[in-house]
Amino acid sequence: MNLPRVYLSPPHIGQLERQYVQEAFDQNWVSPVGPNLTAFEKELAEYNNIGFCAALSSGTAAIHLALILAGVDRDDEVICSSFTFSGSCNPIAYMQATPVFVDSESLTWNMDPDLLEEAIKDRIQKKGRKPKAIIVVHLYGMPAQIERIKSIAQRYEIILIEDAAEALGAKVNDQHLGTFGDFGIYSFNGNKIITTSGGGALVAHQQNWVDKARFLATQARDQAPHYEHTQIGYNYRLSNISAGIGRGQLAVLNERIAKRRQIYEWYRKYFNANSKVQFLPEPNGYFANRWLTTVLFANPEIQGELTREKVRIQLEKDNIESRPLWKPMHLQPVFKNAPAYVNGVSESLFKCGLCLPSGTAMDEDIVLKIAEKITRVIY
Ligand SMILES: *Cc1c(COP(=O)(O)O)cnc(C)c1O
Repeated sequence: MNLPRVYLSPPHIGQLERQYVQEAFDQNWVSPVGPNLTAFEKELAEYNNIGFCAALSSGTAAIHLALILAGVDRDDEVICSSFTFSGSCNPIAYMQATPVFVDSESLTWNMDPDLLEEAIKDRIQKKGRKPKAIIVVHLYGMPAQIERIKSIAQRYEIILIEDAAEALGAKVNDQHLGTFGDFGIYSFNGNKIITTSGGGALVAHQQNWVDKARFLATQARDQAPHYEHTQIGYNYRLSNISAGIGRGQLAVLNERIAKRRQIYEWYRKYFNANSKVQFLPEPNGYFANRWLTTVLFANPEIQGELTREKVRIQLEKDNIESRPLWKPMHLQPVFKNAPAYVNGVSESLFKCGLCLPSGTAMDEDIVLKIAEKITRVIY
């Protein structure tokens, strides 16, 4: 049997994307400037109901620029969710600042607000000054307790950056993620809910911040007929070709979210009443985009082996891609010296959890087949 490989979250591209890309070629806007880029920024800002947006080469670049705009200096501290992908916190290291990791709560798997406040107080006591910024991540498209986190950031007057790389289109009380903080960032990497092949964006309510981000993203070129520079810049702009893909993807984003949510429901329905496989329900007022369906195995181990590894390896034999949940940053060798405020939640999620194939071109019969294969391993 040579079935095609089932990927975790492959790109899902339609006709409109091709049309916008074709227009870019036809008009020779093959550069990091042009009508698709301008329109993509406008459409993305409108979708999220926020004033300003800069389209960039990656989500990581967007976080980097947000940290620069937040005034992060060498030797400053920046708080970041520990349970995340390294793209969230690598930019802290680019700034030669120190990441301070905060663990998760079990309701949303995202940053624990109580632990965040404890961390802020402790950093102020130990360092004599407060952290310069907070990067809160909305993992797998599930909103963090963003209203509580925002009120803590405001109380201590610390800049809040929302890493909504995985959470485009997710909402709390009808407000889009990425629009609660001082800055929001999105990613359009190939595996995200929509893609530009590679890309990202920075959004903010303040125009001057987004203008500054665009300036820094184009090598910080001052107003002059020649090339004049008074500060260090970056080459972080999205190309007009990529933005064409983005425009086509944005047009079907709500459909894609509906399908991801449907896929989650299909898995959940299959395992319904099966206490060996646990899901992450939405708290009241929360709307997740269900970028990836994630499950926790109630028995972390079977015969001394990690259940999620047994399942992952069996699925891999059947040419089905799955992946452990993110390994927390406070457990990563590269960040072993960073201060961390830990409660065991993310470590246990990493031990018990698996991301299941969630691509939007997938039909219910494939989901059922995957669920059956999982069942055979855990019984
Ligand atoms: C994908 C991702 C990023 C980085 O985005 P890139 O566009 O790949 O640079 C950052 N944070 C999280 C949580 C992500 O999943």
